[in-house]
Amino acid sequence: MIGSNDDLKALIRTIPDFPKPGIQFRDVTTLLLDGAGFAAAIERLAFKIEEKPDLVAGIEARGFIVAAALAQRLGAGVLLIRKDGKLPGQTIAEDYALEYGTDRLTMHVDACAPGARVWLADDLIATGGSALAAARLIRRAGAEVAGAGFIIDLPDLGGSARLKQEGFPVHALVEFEGD
Ligand code: AMP
Repeated sequence: MIGSNDDLKALIRTIPDFPKPGIQFRDVTTLLLDGAGFAAAIERLAFKIEEKPDLVAGIEARGFIVAAALAQRLGAGVLLIRKDGKLPGQTIAEDYALEYGTDRLTMHVDACAPGARVWLADDLIATGGSALAAARLIRRAGAEVAGAGFIIDLPDLGGSARLKQEGFPVHALVEFEGD
């Protein structure tokens, strides 16, 4: 699944001990600053999508950047999955576990038509908690999760494996092992 994306990997900065000791923060902002690198990342994610989805759903906040660029490239719309309290219309919500406590993602209840095919996008998948909550929201709205794409996968945290168990394709461009 992972091709040779060493050029992209080299553009991702690692900041140790952020936001807390022991975490290797994989900082995608340095890739985003590189016009050719950002374009290549979106092109390679788009290449893996066999059938154009109706919508690309981005998870707040860096996921919005990946989702919007991917949607534009595919000719699809953008669906915003936001943190609690941000969306102005009527929402549905899903909670997911963090290391300490829980967090909540929300979506406008009328954001996708029943039967719509939705591709999920974020900069990075770690435990998969946020992506799985986003997938539950899309399914609750009656839409289909057609697949998920990430620039970065931290495979040791198990999120991409968990997502695959949901029965849709999961693609990532770059892996950092041992995180
Ligand atoms: P998870 O829900 O555990 O899959 O976490 C994924 C979300 O948290 C993504 O939106 C990432 O941007 C962020 N994230 C988690 N771990 C890291 C990390 N080591 N470096 C950068 N971002 C991270």
